[in-house]
Amino acid sequence: MSNEEESLILDSVNRWLERDVAPYAHDLEQADEYPHAMVEQMKQLGLFGATIDPEYGGLGLTASTYAKVVSAVCEVWMSLSGIFNSHLIMARCIQNFGTEAQKQEWLPKLSAGELRGGIGLTEPDAGTDLQGIRCAAKKDGDYYIVNGAKAWITNSIEGDVLGLLVKTDPTATPPRKGMSMFIAAKGPGFNVTRKLKKLGYRGIDTAEISFEDYRVHKDCLIGGEEGRGFYNAVGGLELGRINVAARGVGVATAALKQATAYSQQRHTFGKPICEHQAIQLKLGEMATRTEAARLLVEQAAKAFDSGERCDMEAGMAKYFATEAAAKNADENMRIHGAYGYSTEFDVERLYRDAPLMIIGEGTNEMQRIIIARQLVERNPI
Ligand SMILES: Cc1cc2nc3c(=O)[nH]c(=O)nc-3n(C[C@H](O)[C@H](O)[C@H](O)COP(=O)(O)OP(=O)(O)OC[C@H]3O[C@@H](n4cnc5c(N)ncnc54)[C@H](O)[C@@H]3O)c2cc1C
Repeated sequence: MSNEEESLILDSVNRWLERDVAPYAHDLEQADEYPHAMVEQMKQLGLFGATIDPEYGGLGLTASTYAKVVSAVCEVWMSLSGIFNSHLIMARCIQNFGTEAQKQEWLPKLSAGELRGGIGLTEPDAGTDLQGIRCAAKKDGDYYIVNGAKAWITNSIEGDVLGLLVKTDPTATPPRKGMSMFIAAKGPGFNVTRKLKKLGYRGIDTAEISFEDYRVHKDCLIGGEEGRGFYNAVGGLELGRINVAARGVGVATAALKQATAYSQQRHTFGKPICEHQAIQLKLGEMATRTEAARLLVEQAAKAFDSGERCDMEAGMAKYFATEAAAKNADENMRIHGAYGYSTEFDVERLYRDAPLMIIGEGTNEMQRIIIARQLVERNPI
């Protein structure tokens, strides 16, 4: 993608954010209301096909450009990025591991946003330890019958279809060899049981689902072969981590911009607070953290785009950028004093949104373990 094409895309996303998102995000978020109008605008912008191959109707953005789009969106309202992020993780699973017939059938509709997807991995008692899932699918002629439960599934109320991770052989050892991923469209037996109330990441739907004799056709088994589900799920993790890291950059930047502006407006003891050394130390750290996070994301995305192995780089970017978002959101609140604690302003929203990124897409505890393992593997004595 040329620099000029990238600028055109970023310009149109930024214009949309300024005109159609920024003025309305606060009220929608406070009311935990789904942004239907914005979703229609996101379809027009092509965001639902952002990383899908142009052959299937998508924009085919590189990870580097996509990360910049995600950061820009999250600087204004992080929840919006979840509506197309998990949709695109599902689409990527089909694009990378699906049969040609599956790509032809599903990707054009997903690119257009005509169908909206999500990713169904987590269960009430299994998140990080994905091999511990219990949701199971049993073959019955041309169909599989699915029973079990999923939890914390984003886009499951407003969306139409999930990349659903199940066990097709619950007795397999190791368990990952008995796991499969299905393209699971809503239908009888696919029951969204409860919308979850969340600290942040509001406006977007995250829910619990129960599957009761839900029937899914064998043609919807991704790749057409059982036992590949675990690899399908973890195969998208590098890009998933770069995306979450890009969200972190967006939130860290928003906090820095708010703090920089407010510290020049607010006066105490006869001068703007940005002239007090205690505030300057905070601003200096916030700015450096934001820039370091942006560079780590850029580096990981560049490695991904050039086809290099980048699990360590993506892990570092995810870990650092999301911790930077949380730290900057905290410092921004301190700099705003009581106003930071008010629900009238967006300062407290950043503070509530940031922790999700520390948990999602592989917790930051796991990122550090992954980084350490890679470090040792790449540097044997
Ligand atoms: C708002 C929101 C939206 C979400 N959306 C989705 C979605 O769309 N689809 C989906 O599938 N999931 C989704 N999730 C779930 C998310 O991916 C999981 O919460 C995450 O994977 C962590 O799993 P867990 O919550 O079960 O924590 P656990 O796995 O129970 O972990 C608990 C703690 O133990 C630590 N821990 C676990 N194992 C180890 C280990 N081996 N070594 C060291 N520490 C360890 C973890 O780091 C964490 O601190 C969402 C979650 C939230 C909060």
